[in-house]
Amino acid sequence: MTVESMAQAIYLVAALLFVGALAGLSRHETARAGNKAGMAGLTLALVATIALAFDRGLSAGGALLLFLAACTGGAIGLWRARVVEMTGMPELIALLHSFVGLAAVMVGWNGFLVVERDPEGPEAQLLRVEDAVGIHAAEVVIGVFIGAVTLTGSIVAYGKLSAKISSRPMMLPGKNLLNLGALLCFAALAVWFVIQPSPWILAAATVLALILGWHLVASIGGGDMPVVVSMLNSYSGWAAAASGFLLGNDLLIVTGALVGSSGAYLSYVMCKAMNRSFLSVIGGGFGITAPTSSGEQEHGEHREVTAGHVAELLSEASSVIITPGYGMAVAQAQHGVAELTRRLRERGIDVKFGVHPVAGRLPGHMNVLLAEAKVSYDIVLEMDEVNDDFASTSVVLVIGANDTVNPAAAEDPGSPIAGMPVLRVWEASRVVVFKRSMASGYAGVANPLFYREKTEMLFGDAKERLDDILSALPQQAPAGAIRTI
Ligand code: NDP
Repeated sequence: MTVESMAQAIYLVAALLFVGALAGLSRHETARAGNKAGMAGLTLALVATIALAFDRGLSAGGALLLFLAACTGGAIGLWRARVVEMTGMPELIALLHSFVGLAAVMVGWNGFLVVERDPEGPEAQLLRVEDAVGIHAAEVVIGVFIGAVTLTGSIVAYGKLSAKISSRPMMLPGKNLLNLGALLCFAALAVWFVIQPSPWILAAATVLALILGWHLVASIGGGDMPVVVSMLNSYSGWAAAASGFLLGNDLLIVTGALVGSSGAYLSYVMCKAMNRSFLSVIGGGFGITAPTSSGEQEHGEHREVTAGHVAELLSEASSVIITPGYGMAVAQAQHGVAELTRRLRERGIDVKFGVHPVAGRLPGHMNVLLAEAKVSYDIVLEMDEVNDDFASTSVVLVIGANDTVNPAAAEDPGSPIAGMPVLRVWEASRVVVFKRSMASGYAGVANPLFYREKTEMLFGDAKERLDDILSALPQQAPAGAIRTI
């Protein structure tokens, strides 16, 4: 068996492991096994690729470069993975997508320059057939385009997610026409490049794609950012697949297509969950009109309470729903939340969680934190499963959530988040909101919930306030009411 055929066989096994990884990651219970399958697949793929490179005559200098690059990248990756906070994950992911985009641009340019510089070289010889030259040029220009859109789009997403730039949508006049014009220009440049490959045409297509990526994501408002993150994930997959075609690497094509299609499906699912049009979001907010209301209208006075008061309220409640949000992640309050849940359930109080699909800063953010704090899956409910229960609930604890419980989304058609489904917490008998100030959430929209008659504000860091409530709650459970979390 040659090294070439052995490598192809290993690629096949790796591809199957990647499919298994995706299947595993789709459920809480199997997510760890999914991760392990993905890591095993990647290790096999790396070993096979390096063996293949040696078999194809990799020089000693090339091997040293490969080794140094793998060690440096591996060390940086290990260090980032160890120090990154859970709250910093989305921006880290956005930044990593930008690297995939950059790599695709570089692979595309390299694929072009190799043939351009040495038309008699081995790579150029492979493209002697007239048709293949055109196909190669099309692969180059499409790969560079997808990569460049992913690169700048991901950098803007990184800026928005890390609050380095405003999360508000940039509303350039005629923005949809600008996007459409850029796409048509790219199509014309691509055809021109295929007919007559030239570095100037490729450079123009690259610059156009860089601007388009930046504009597409800059035009998206805070509330729609979750879809953009998964959409960029999808783009990074397609960029990798395009590089796979250029490098003649089947596994890269398969892996890129898996990431691309699963990211596209996730974007579609999230759009459905948020009542947004998929085409509108991938089109940089196509068809979305500028909001007519800022949500800044006068709402009256809010009511502030103490942790002792909330402890009293909870000990008299018969049912409690906890709706966590990004603030729970910032405060790392999930363990306090889990302990409070245990204590309340010991007292015979019915406690469950209502998790909004985009609560936090990445899909599944709250589920991961609650699982880490060992909250049982069966009391963690999705928005649709819990929304009808609020009306019959004694107390709702909103722990660091804001946009995902904002009644303006359901009641104010002019609001920037109008139409986005939210947790209807305001229907409960009492609502306690844990946050540090009256500031708005990620979408930058004021929240009328805070001023409602049944709402009470508990200010301060959520973890500290939960500790205060736990100290104020009597330890002793009434006899015969023991439950486990
Ligand atoms: P929000 O971002 O709307 O609100 C979080 C709230 O937490 C803030 O109002 C903040 O108020 C409070 N907070 C912050 N730190 C603390 C702390 N230490 N203790 C107590 N409270 C704190 O969160 P939601 O989860 O409700 O909504 C998520 C938003 O993020 C949505 O707009 C969503 O579209 C967007 N998004 C989601 C992504 C995803 O994939 N899930 C990705 C990108 C964006 P204060 O400062 O006053 O304390």
